[in-house]
Amino acid sequence: MSSGIVTGSYIIAAVLFIFSLGGLSHPRTARRGNFYGMVGMVIAIAVTILLLGESANLKLLAPVMLIGALIGLTVAYRVQMTEMPELVAVLHSFVGMAAVLIGFATYLDGSDGYVGVAKVIHEVEIYIGVLIGAVTFSGSVIAFGKLKGIISGKPLLLPARHWINLGLGIASVFLGVEFVSTTDGMSSLLIMTAIALLFGVHMVMAIGGADMPVVVSMLNSYSGWAAAATGFMLSNDLLIVTGALVGSSGAILSYIMCRAMNRNFISVIAGGFGTGSSSVSSATYDGEVNEILSNETADILREAGRVIIVPGYGMAVAQAQNTVSEISNILNDTKKDVRFAIHPVAGRMPGHMNVLLAEARVSYDVVFEMDEINGEFTDTDVVLVVGANDIVNPSALSEPESPIAGMPVLEVWNAATVVVLKRGMASGYAGVDNPLFFNENTRMLFGDAKQSLDSILSELSR
Ligand code: NDP
Repeated sequence: MSSGIVTGSYIIAAVLFIFSLGGLSHPRTARRGNFYGMVGMVIAIAVTILLLGESANLKLLAPVMLIGALIGLTVAYRVQMTEMPELVAVLHSFVGMAAVLIGFATYLDGSDGYVGVAKVIHEVEIYIGVLIGAVTFSGSVIAFGKLKGIISGKPLLLPARHWINLGLGIASVFLGVEFVSTTDGMSSLLIMTAIALLFGVHMVMAIGGADMPVVVSMLNSYSGWAAAATGFMLSNDLLIVTGALVGSSGAILSYIMCRAMNRNFISVIAGGFGTGSSSVSSATYDGEVNEILSNETADILREAGRVIIVPGYGMAVAQAQNTVSEISNILNDTKKDVRFAIHPVAGRMPGHMNVLLAEARVSYDVVFEMDEINGEFTDTDVVLVVGANDIVNPSALSEPESPIAGMPVLEVWNAATVVVLKRGMASGYAGVDNPLFFNENTRMLFGDAKQSLDSILSELSR
């Protein structure tokens, strides 16, 4: 295949990936963005196979790709919306593992064609690729465990954790020098891989529940850099560009997440932000809560003029987005002002609530980000908190020792009445009790959010 066609196709694919990222930046254009990404990927795969020409072992490649595609299709069809973050973590771990395996394969293949500086550069590419890949792999596996609830969401804060990290970093640099300066660097590569795997585990274990969004976007970024490093090893320009796009957009997302949560990126990565020195402390609250029934909730909604709905992870679990949308339509029909307030870390992945509301055809015009709507609660009659907890927890603002201290939250308590829909008194993802539930103007509507909302809807439809 002529190099002109290859370069041209790679440029088209890279441009499609850029359009894809642009499209994914807003729910309105996300579907189109996804389409561009898929077309770009088809071009990338097809041209890469054609580029290999006769050296492509199609007898091996075709069945392996078919099996991979079938597994991917099955998983994508079966996965529940609430399991998406875990799936994303698993996919990140695959990219990390691929970078490690390709790094070892490239090294074992030998660097015969390389001499002098070119050889050093080639080996540095391998070393860095394996390093980032191994951190991404083990970090993503731990993130998967934390998101799935197999591993506790509480941060593991070893006494000398910063020294351990520093020691692992220095050892990796030392081994890297060793690796490029000897003829047989396999043992250095193997030891560094073990260190990087350990570092990935330690880094993610040290991060507390509420800081997980930063970890998810950070691992997304790492997976991009791992792919870029693989591109260098394989001398594939498109993989370098694509990896850099994913790496930098993931880094920007991590920055946005940190800013939204009032966190310092380095502090999050170092672990234990806002958790005191060695243990997580958080206040517990006792007292009476004011319960409310669905028909009573319908009554106060009928009387309200301004309503704000705050969706959280529980709405995703209950799959209540369509009922939420229907209720907002009914209220709109009776000339009420209904808006939605989205916290940047609501749910379990960036944009989780926006996706669900878009699926339920809620108009984008009534969906507001936290910064836009936080001042509006004072003028609001009723706030419906649908399966949200951490994102409406006032202790984030009032308790310096809380694991979520400093995180901006939706200040729903400023409204005249707050109705919280949840099944019981369980805490949210960060494992922190929520004093909001005991406020005088809070009413607890216990039960599965979908069932409670269905009852409210049938009351309102009468
Ligand atoms: P939370 O996890 O804080 O709270 C969700 C609440 O929903 C729970 O308290 C639960 O209470 C309730 N719930 C669960 N199922 C149902 C149901 N079927 N019906 C009604 N209620 C239900 O969610 P938030 O959205 O408030 O906050 C998100 C948290 O997740 C933050 O701590 C964030 O840092 C973290 N996170 C976010 C990520 C992201 O990228 N957005 C990624 C990883 C973590 P009960 O069991 O009593 O019903």
